Amino acid sequence: MTGQTPRLSKVNLFTLFSLLMELFPPVEQQNKSQVKKTGLVVVKNIKMVGLHCSSADLHAGQIALIKHGSRLKNCDLYFSRKPCSTCLKMIVNAGVNRISYWPADPEISLQNEASNPTSTEDAKLDAKAVERLKSNSRARVCLLLQPLVCDMVQFVEETTYKCDFIQKIAKTLSGYNTDFYTECRQEKIKEYESLFLISNEGMHKQILMTMGLENLCENPYFSNLRQNMKDLILLLATVAASVPTFGHFGFYCNGSQQTNDMHHQSLPQEIARHCMIQARLLAYRTGEFLCEWERSQSCDHGTGTMYFVGCGYNAFPVGSEYADFPHMDDKQKDREIRKFRYIIHAEQNALTFRCQEIKPEERSMIFVTKCPCDECVPLIKGAGIKQIYVGDVDVGKKKADISYMKFRELEGVSKFTVNDKTYRFFFLKKSPSKTQSLDEQQHQSKKLCLGNH
Ligand SMILES: [Zn+2]
Ligand SMILES: [Zn+2]
Repeated sequence: MTGQTPRLSKVNLFTLFSLLMELFPPVEQQNKSQVKKTGLVVVKNIKMVGLHCSSADLHAGQIALIKHGSRLKNCDLYFSRKPCSTCLKMIVNAGVNRISYWPADPEISLQNEASNPTSTEDAKLDAKAVERLKSNSRARVCLLLQPLVCDMVQFVEETTYKCDFIQKIAKTLSGYNTDFYTECRQEKIKEYESLFLISNEGMHKQILMTMGLENLCENPYFSNLRQNMKDLILLLATVAASVPTFGHFGFYCNGSQQTNDMHHQSLPQEIARHCMIQARLLAYRTGEFLCEWERSQSCDHGTGTMYFVGCGYNAFPVGSEYADFPHMDDKQKDREIRKFRYIIHAEQNALTFRCQEIKPEERSMIFVTKCPCDECVPLIKGAGIKQIYVGDVDVGKKKADISYMKFRELEGVSKFTVNDKTYRFFFLKKSPSKTQSLDEQQHQSKKLCLGNH
C-alpha cells in the first residue's frame, strides 16, 4: 500500500526547521550587522535534540556547544547559513558526524561588498579558513537538500487553506473571504525569499564560489539548486501563512482557567504562533503532530528562556514494517482493524523520545496541531506539562475511533486555543461572576496578599 499523502523527507524537515529557527522572534536587541542571525538544528540518531538560534552575543554554533558540549559527538547539525570558522572549529572538535547548511549568504555575510570593502575582505578570509577546516576534518560538511515530491507544495497549499485557524478567521469576514490568507502568503514568500535567497544569480554564484562550491555554479546544477531552494521556501512560507497575524486572533486561554500562577501565564502571541508553525511543519512528516517546548527560568541564549524538550508525529511502533498494520481507508468499516488501534500518537512519541526531562518546577508547554485525544490527555497531565496550545477545534468531538471528550474537562493544565481576543473579552464582560480578566485577577491577588499581612 502506498501512502496517499506526500511527506517531507527528514533531511528537508531538519533544513526547514533550521530556517524557521532563524526566524525565532527576537528576545533581545539584535544589532550585529556583520553576522547574520543563524538557525541550527541538532540531530542525534535521526531525532531532533536541539533547536537554537544566534543571540546578540553568541552564534548559533557557540550556543549549541554551550548547551550540548561533548554530547555533540556523532550528531548531525543543520545550519540555516554556512557557519563561520569560530563556530566550525569548535563543532568539528566536538566530533560531530555531519554538518549541513543552507547554501545562501553565509553567517559572516559575503553580500555587502559595495558598502564595506574591508569587512568583505574579512568575510572572504573567514570563508577560506572554513574551507581549510572542512577539508581537514572527519566531519562531512555538505549540502543536504532534496527535491520535494512533485505534489508536495500543492498538498501543503490545500491543507493550510483548509486549516482551522484560517477557516475560523474567514468565518468572521463577509462571504467567507480568504483573500487575507492569499495576501499573507504572498508577504511571507517575499519576506523569506529576501532572507534565504540571493535574488541576483551572479551574486549567488560568486558566493557559492567563495564557499568552495564551484561545481554548483554550472548549469544544470545551479538552476536545479535555485529551484530546489525556491520550492522549499515556498513550502515554508505557505505553512507560516497558515498561522497568520490577523486582527485579534491568537492563542487564548478560556477565561475561567486563568490563574495568577506563573505556570499558567500565556506566551507572547508571536512566540506561540512561531511554535505552532513548527508543529504544523512537523505535521507534514505524517499528517499531524506536536512539538514540545519547556520554558525555564534559566537563560537560554537566542530563544530567551525557552528550550526544546522534544517533538513527535504519528507513526507506527518502532520496528514495525510499513505493511504490518492496516491504514486508514474510507471504505474500511471494521473498527478493529483501523490504524488508530496501532498508531503511536504524536504526543506519545514526543514523550517517549524527549531529549530533556520535564521538570515540575518549570513552565513546560506542548504545541499540537490537533486537539489531544482521550488517550493522550491524561499522559500530558501526568507528565507535568503546564500548558497546551491547540491549533484546531475538534474539542468535544468523536471521530471514528478517536474521541476528544476529555480535553474539555482537563483541569490543572492551561489550554490555549485559537480565538479572537475581542470576542473573549466580550464574553468575559457578559459573565463576570465566573470569569475574570487578568487585570481583575491581579487586583484580587494583591488584595489577598494584603489580607495575609
Ligand atoms: Zn559562527
Ligand atoms: Zn492521542
